[in-house]
Amino acid sequence: MDNKEELIKELIRSGILRSKKVIDAMLKVPRELFVPEELRKYAYLDTPLPIGYGQTISAPHMVALMTEALDPDRGDRILEVGTGSGYQAAILAEIVGPEGHVYTVEIIKELVEFARTNLMRAGYLDRVTIIHGDGSLGYEEAAPYDKIIVTAAAPRIPQPLIDQLKPGGRLVIPVGDFHIQYLTIVSKEVDGRVRYETSIPCIFVPLVGKYGVRASSGLT
Ligand code: SAM
Repeated sequence: MDNKEELIKELIRSGILRSKKVIDAMLKVPRELFVPEELRKYAYLDTPLPIGYGQTISAPHMVALMTEALDPDRGDRILEVGTGSGYQAAILAEIVGPEGHVYTVEIIKELVEFARTNLMRAGYLDRVTIIHGDGSLGYEEAAPYDKIIVTAAAPRIPQPLIDQLKPGGRLVIPVGDFHIQYLTIVSKEVDGRVRYETSIPCIFVPLVGKYGVRASSGLT
């Protein structure tokens, strides 16, 4: 049994990984292709790893937890804000299959290129569109989405993301300040009403941009 299988078994044992679709995707996607070469030996430790520019690839348990909360389905059109390494996008692309699509927005140009290379090597580029821009605005061009996931911490939920969610859709986003955030699940009912559910505490790098930390701190 390799490190990957052991990690997945531990995430199942601890109750974080529950559904077959997420377990299968995490078994299939090679996390080692999404970390800098010199860190590959740590790819199956349950820890975030630096990917440059002050950013990280999230820890496997956080990817598992957020993906379970998002509950992606085959054929879904999904928006991710915060591409980083492209690993979370690859997990989603594996689940939505060739009938679905993942749009992922990254604000740091160099990470757009890093993620593009990683997703190409892992074979997911045909199901993933990477956009360089401010994802706090969502990505209006391909809206509406079945699901939206934000992998950076927002001071409050950006309204454009709620607007770009389909009725019946779901948004998973860490909300809070620098010290602590809570994973928040937003459900848009079919009648358009919006429900908010606060889940576990977490720590993410900040979401910047118009509806990110700069807006809330008064900077532009
Ligand atoms: N999902 C990523 C992965 O699988 O590697 C990890 C994401 S990392 C924790 C957060 C990312 O969000 C960083 O790459 C950061 O540059 C990006 N980010 C922060 N604010 C953003 C914004 N307004 N729009 C798009 N990306 C943003």
